[in-house]
Amino acid sequence: MSVTEMTRAVRGSNSATQKVMLETAAATRLLEAEGILDYSGHVSTRIPGREAFVIQVGSTSRAEVTPESMLVVDYDGKVLEGDGQPPSELPIHLEILRARPDVQSVLHSHMELAIAFTMMEGVKLLPMRARASRWKSGIPTDPDPSHIKLPGQGRALARTLGPHHAVLMRAHGLCLVAESVRGLFVDAVHFKENATAQMQALQAGAKPIPLTEAEIAQIEKMEMRDWHIKKLWNYYVRKALDEEVLPSAWKDELVPTKEMLTRD
Ligand SMILES: [Zn+2]
Repeated sequence: MSVTEMTRAVRGSNSATQKVMLETAAATRLLEAEGILDYSGHVSTRIPGREAFVIQVGSTSRAEVTPESMLVVDYDGKVLEGDGQPPSELPIHLEILRARPDVQSVLHSHMELAIAFTMMEGVKLLPMRARASRWKSGIPTDPDPSHIKLPGQGRALARTLGPHHAVLMRAHGLCLVAESVRGLFVDAVHFKENATAQMQALQAGAKPIPLTEAEIAQIEKMEMRDWHIKKLWNYYVRKALDEEVLPSAWKDELVPTKEMLTRD
């Protein structure tokens, strides 16, 4: 019996819901293993064909999230399936998913490096490394430093995010948004790499030289986002299976097949 069949047997959800639960649980464990999530932070993912999304129980360890323990929540914040309470910062996910129909998956993280860039006078986080062309439209900072527990705070955060793919949160964290949970994971890896690169330049006492518009245009000409997401997902999932960050029973449904890893 596959993991999704097992979850379906336990929970009775349909297969689309089960697939989203598995991928969101896996992405959460991968993000924790990469130091992007820790004891807090969370990932939400829309369920195709349903007016609902998946998110973990707030109290579950990010290193131990399972598809079976995920919650199905509607866009009014009502838990439709699962046992337990969603994270207290649920309004982050609710309001961003409501405001951005193009977004399938949302990450909220308290990444230290990202927070540092909300606490330095005259310093802005900018696209430095090639993969950071993803954030060429800008990385705004939301001024509210408190936990986002009220709908009004969530709406304000979604307004600050606007059409961008990332938003920093003053003295608190960040949110990333993407077209899939796999893409979201890959973006988070590159977001951390980019913040690290800029911090290293600052710590060397040098003036960082961000990518220019012409450089970003050249990078985008060569970009193969779908392929790149598959390649990195394959790498991190395999590594996590070897290191037992992910249970071996999840392997068949998470590791891309040879055909999937063939470039067009
Ligand atoms: Zn938070």
